[in-house]
Amino acid sequence: MTSDAPAGGATLFEDIGLLYTADPEREEIADAALIVEDGVVAWIGPSSGQNVPAADRRIGVEGRAVIPGFVDSHAHLVFAGDRTAEFAARMEGLPYSAGGIRTTVAATREAADAALAANAGALVAEMLAQGTTTVEIKSGYGLTVEDERRSLEIAGRFTAETTYLGAHVVPPGVSADDYVSMVTGPMLQACAPYARWVDVFCERGAFDGDQSREILAAGIGAGLGARIHAGQLGEGPGVRIACELGAASADHCTHLTDADVAALADSGVVATLLPGAEFSTRSPYPDARRLLDAGVSVALATDCNPGSSFTSSMPFCVALAVREMRMSPKEAVYAATAGGARALRRTDVGVLRVGARADLVILSAPSYVHLAYRPGVPLVDQVWKDGARVV
Ligand SMILES: [Zn+2]
Repeated sequence: MTSDAPAGGATLFEDIGLLYTADPEREEIADAALIVEDGVVAWIGPSSGQNVPAADRRIGVEGRAVIPGFVDSHAHLVFAGDRTAEFAARMEGLPYSAGGIRTTVAATREAADAALAANAGALVAEMLAQGTTTVEIKSGYGLTVEDERRSLEIAGRFTAETTYLGAHVVPPGVSADDYVSMVTGPMLQACAPYARWVDVFCERGAFDGDQSREILAAGIGAGLGARIHAGQLGEGPGVRIACELGAASADHCTHLTDADVAALADSGVVATLLPGAEFSTRSPYPDARRLLDAGVSVALATDCNPGSSFTSSMPFCVALAVREMRMSPKEAVYAATAGGARALRRTDVGVLRVGARADLVILSAPSYVHLAYRPGVPLVDQVWKDGARVV
């Protein structure tokens, strides 16, 4: 990987075969050009003609497609250890349960900061190479005050989108009541300075509705934005709580009642779908079509974690969403860029419009449709972040 910082001035990307902007104002432009200056998009327009402004350097895209950098709004990257055997056993028929998280917790507590940072950094680099220019990173494998605090400190070395997930599971040797008191008390106090968001795993085997509401409300009280793991393994109160509390996003949304779908549409809470989890646990996929048809905002993310979805690939998630979840290619790419940005309440990323961050991907393909049409093929040719080439 190279970091190729521009020498200053304007960079013109010309001869873009198809520019997908994820901007509803003008979704896609054939034969486009784009100018980047000072790390942001300065101009977008047709590549041919007299109106292209002057620039200090030119990048020939040679008819290929350009899309915004992916926004992966759900990832668990601060961990140690390996769950290969658990995956293999599951593929031989063992069911997935939330309890597997405890295996990673034990390994994470044992690991030095440097080892956790090296692992997270390697995953972030892997994501960048696949076109992800913004990633959210959660804690949640420490589950002590100090292990959660240091997990968030490490996450913050890689992203501003850090999420306090002390409420991932109740760790062994602590009662659920005592643990909720810790998560809403001293652990929150220690973690809030390092976190932008608070999250809870609202699921059978993890935290129930009352506990989840209490944990999110405490986080909101400490100045954090709310997000929630809801409806992964079964229907539950998570989506309702997200809508009540004004969470930015309800994540998974695999098992939803009609009332949940209506509440998501009314509240504007983003439904973040994580098809890597269904793929890796051999489970039924969420019904994206049902959500989109109801007017719900949908995001796609990897849920990258060592247990239930150990993929860092947004192109893979786009392909799954199209093939398995009845999303159109355009809807899937939108969900993986602008949708993810919305799930993080960001307007400066996930979109290519004048003033947005110059985070973009040049595909070695003539159209973004190839992300689903050619699954598993490495189509990310160049990645630019803040106007500099990083891949
Ligand atoms: Zn998750």
